Amino acid sequence: MNYITDVIAAVSTPPGKGGVAVIRISGEGALAVIGKCFRPLSGKPLKDCPTRTQIYGHIFDREGTTLDDVLVCYFKSPASYTGEDTVEIYCHGGILVTRSILELVLSHGARPAEPGEFTRRAFLSGKLSLTEAEAIGTLLEARSEAQIKLMAGPARERLAERIAKIRASLVELLSSAYARIDYPDEDLGDFSDSEMLSALYNIKEDISSLISTYRTGRAINEGVLAVIAGKPNVGKSSLYNLLVGEDAAIVTDVAGTTRDVLVRTVPLGSTLLRLADTAGIREADALDKVEAIGIERSRRYMSECELLLAVFDLSRELDTEDEALIQSIAPLDCTKIALLNKSDLEGRLDTERISGHFDAVIYTSAADEAGTVSALTEAVNALFTDGKIISGDGAIVASARQHASLLAALESVSTAYESLRGGFMQDAVSSDIERALGAIAELDGRAVSEEVVSDIFSKFCVGK
Ligand code: GDP
Repeated sequence: MNYITDVIAAVSTPPGKGGVAVIRISGEGALAVIGKCFRPLSGKPLKDCPTRTQIYGHIFDREGTTLDDVLVCYFKSPASYTGEDTVEIYCHGGILVTRSILELVLSHGARPAEPGEFTRRAFLSGKLSLTEAEAIGTLLEARSEAQIKLMAGPARERLAERIAKIRASLVELLSSAYARIDYPDEDLGDFSDSEMLSALYNIKEDISSLISTYRTGRAINEGVLAVIAGKPNVGKSSLYNLLVGEDAAIVTDVAGTTRDVLVRTVPLGSTLLRLADTAGIREADALDKVEAIGIERSRRYMSECELLLAVFDLSRELDTEDEALIQSIAPLDCTKIALLNKSDLEGRLDTERISGHFDAVIYTSAADEAGTVSALTEAVNALFTDGKIISGDGAIVASARQHASLLAALESVSTAYESLRGGFMQDAVSSDIERALGAIAELDGRAVSEEVVSDIFSKFCVGK
């Protein structure tokens, strides 16, 4: 297999019957492959037709029989998605006709594309940085509006720009440090020591501010960890099932039914939640071992969550277990919403004593699915999407890989900064700056290992 020169082909639309299907062919010989099976109606060979323009004609098989009437578009290298000569065939979307055309194309010298191989070629030909390619992969899998916003073109470009700026600053510093190494007696460095110190400080700040966006990026991409907590029997599992859309958790009126923490990813409005149903928290002398472990796990999830959904039974008065829950969540650094559940029953709860401890209070009922979902969606959107999470125009780091590279870059830049501040010469910090550049090169894919690249693209679908 030759990743650079051979011609690849795949159906780029989803499998199955559809109005139109798209078959994509890419590689240096793409035009030759299509030339063997496509005849434009105008009679002009495709290579003489205008590029990036849909040309009407027929696909014919080896016997010369027409298989389909199609539109074909030729994207001449480098003005294509992959950066290579690319041809797209828009055929009728029948399963058989699409497969027959693909097989014909393969029989004329193309090979089946691997998952993500078109995007991989775009990356290899310099059309996309690795962070942009990753963003496209996530976009294809997006399950929430926030994810789409995060991965769409402008946000992708903003991240690429911020990384390029950091890289350019590091390159500038490194060349100054090298000038000192090569000509130590001459005043050749672009930066005085104090200028270099302040440049390193600015880079450190830039990297740190990007790193700080990862919490948001991860929340959008993997889901905000939202924990449903409360004493037994207030309706936690009922609400969990309602939000998940199926009976994932067992609902009974027996306290202590939910033993382990159940987690599902569910879109809620424009936010993706990693929703956890936890064991009811209660103090009892005779807790069995399994329930005690379950309660311990609940507390751990609560301490790590970004959104706490504390459930109270509106039909009962506030008791010591409710009070204990309010006390225990007070120190948690997360957004807190009180769910006053069983709102279909007569209310006895003193809501005044609850509201001051939460960012929002909403009424819910397992008997009113639509009302509960819409109240919660509104509260979550107001607290996360409109405010905290999607915060305007900034670039957001969204993958663990990007985050790790930035941490490595920060460490090296910080070492360089401290060394210079401690009196070391510029040339002495050049190796730290080089290491930081290496981490940034891994981040944008300039010097990334084959293994990492393969891992990223293997998650794509065939045809992308
Ligand atoms: P958990 O122990 O907090 O998870 O509570 P469950 O979800 O298992 O519910 C405990 C009991 O309360 C069950 O009998 C449910 O049917 C009932 N229940 C839950 N939510 C509601 C509600 O909104 N209204 C009413 N009337 N009953 C509910």
